Amino acid sequence: MGFEHVKAAGMYANGAGGSLLFESFPHQAEVTTFSADSPITDSAAAATAIATGIKVNNGVISTALPGDGSELYTLLEYFSDRSRSTGLVTTTSMTHATPAAFGSHDSSRNNLKAIANDYLTQTRPNVLFGGGDNGMTYDGAATAGYTVVSDRTGMAGLADTAHMVSGQFGSDNMPFEYDYFTGISSGYDILPHLSEMTRTALDILDNDVDGFFLMVEGGRIDHAAHENSLELSVFETLEFNAAVSEAFSWAEGRNDTLILVTSDHETGGLEVLGNNGPGSFPDAAWSTFGHTGINVPVYAWGDNAVLVSGVMDNTDLYHVAIVPEPASLLLFIAGGAILASRPRPARKNSL
Ligand SMILES: [Zn+2]
Repeated sequence: MGFEHVKAAGMYANGAGGSLLFESFPHQAEVTTFSADSPITDSAAAATAIATGIKVNNGVISTALPGDGSELYTLLEYFSDRSRSTGLVTTTSMTHATPAAFGSHDSSRNNLKAIANDYLTQTRPNVLFGGGDNGMTYDGAATAGYTVVSDRTGMAGLADTAHMVSGQFGSDNMPFEYDYFTGISSGYDILPHLSEMTRTALDILDNDVDGFFLMVEGGRIDHAAHENSLELSVFETLEFNAAVSEAFSWAEGRNDTLILVTSDHETGGLEVLGNNGPGSFPDAAWSTFGHTGINVPVYAWGDNAVLVSGVMDNTDLYHVAIVPEPASLLLFIAGGAILASRPRPARKNSL
């Protein structure tokens, strides 16, 4: 998610760029995203940079590579060690690179079973909501002491006082929002949306009087851009904004919380060319089906938000998040995952 993806979503929703909720946050910056071994990062290296403050090679999950291969201390572990509850929420499968960089350590993002094992036996986030399978199993989570749910109804039935919960929704990445809107994915209505998962995670985590760490990934904006689909990108970005809105509603009026909204990298080289007003997709052009090295935005509200300004590096966000440390950190990342090989249903290109 780059600046242009955000602009396009605002034009579609409200008829103007700059109109999404998180764009009203008081402190904003642009962020460089290069990894240790490439000017163009992947999600693993970018998420590790944010999670640990250290650059690693593409494909690496919070492990010192280059370096001695040791485990790098993550924001989730930092807050957990300071008696905060923790949670990871994503619309990609739970073991994909962005959540993995906060809740696991591995030399490769592809070691999905090992990543799931780190969640369940090492870092043990209180809330794990995302797409299922890919290393996560009901039995594995249940054996590790988690209450497991598999659909929206099950999630809605979780007690506010639930302590360790694993939402394993579907068997891969979760559906695109645009596919719900057009009815292509009507069969997927049994699965929760990102904003609903965020709301439920907040309900559970805010029982901790010490505060909490929550990372929420809008994981499919990247996939939309890999397809050069403005429709998919706009709807994913708007749902991401809706998830931030849940957090802002929770945090508004508090003085002990930091909300950061950012992206791991830009995908597609999107350029918005013309505004067609609310309810119409803007004119736009794409330059690549891959990732780019273009700087991405960060939007900040609350404790330490004043530290966000100008041009920063993604590793700087780690320090913004903890020095000094807020009671609660709500971190939103427009991330990405390796695309599923499974074909998706055909989609009409206009409404
Ligand atoms: Zn990608």
